[in-house]
Amino acid sequence: MIELNVCHLYGDLLNTYGDNGNLLMLKHRAKKRGIHFNIEIISLNDPFDADKYDLVFFGGGQDYEQRIVSKDIQTKKEAIIKYIENDGVTVGICGGFQLLGHYYVDAAGNRINGIGALNHYTLNQDNNRFIGDIVIKNNEFGETYKGFENHNGRTFLGEGVKPLGIVEMGHGNNGEDKTEGAHYKQTYCSYFHGPLLVRNTTLTDRILKEVVKKRFPKEAEALFG
Ligand code: GLN
Repeated sequence: MIELNVCHLYGDLLNTYGDNGNLLMLKHRAKKRGIHFNIEIISLNDPFDADKYDLVFFGGGQDYEQRIVSKDIQTKKEAIIKYIENDGVTVGICGGFQLLGHYYVDAAGNRINGIGALNHYTLNQDNNRFIGDIVIKNNEFGETYKGFENHNGRTFLGEGVKPLGIVEMGHGNNGEDKTEGAHYKQTYCSYFHGPLLVRNTTLTDRILKEVVKKRFPKEAEALFG
């Protein structure tokens, strides 16, 4: 049996809107193929081992928890960047997505530092949140993803980072440039709740294949084609 080491980054603090369902869905689709997930929560004061994990999941949260995580994650910054640069598969949703970037200005106007693993930053907006159904298209994969967004943050992607998709309906990263989420190396980020990987199983299996491929390339072809 294939066993994979999965890190749920700050899973005890950042877990709004059922984002945890992304991880459960990946686990479920893996189990159907005889793949076992060893899931471990890595949180405050825990070291992050860049060589240990096959998958990292980083969910969303409220500003209060994001502020706490922001301080702690600086101690893991180098190791997480090493993991991502080494094509480690990572899924970041909403607050997790924001903290993977350079910084996030919260609803009260405080700057919350991210780790700059991905080249994006997030500003706030006055008395408004982007809430509602959303549809995006990923042209590289030729796939459409549907979900529900709920965020105050307005994220702007810098050079070298692709969006996860182009907005066909809804607000997306910032309500201006039609981008939604981010895709960099094997890191996939989104503002989708719903959760993203429950409603969009083509993306779930695409990500899962990448996870398996890294350590078990032959098996990945046999299991996912
Ligand atoms: N607090 C952040 C925002 O409102 C993230 C919210 C979330 O993770 N759902 O933009």
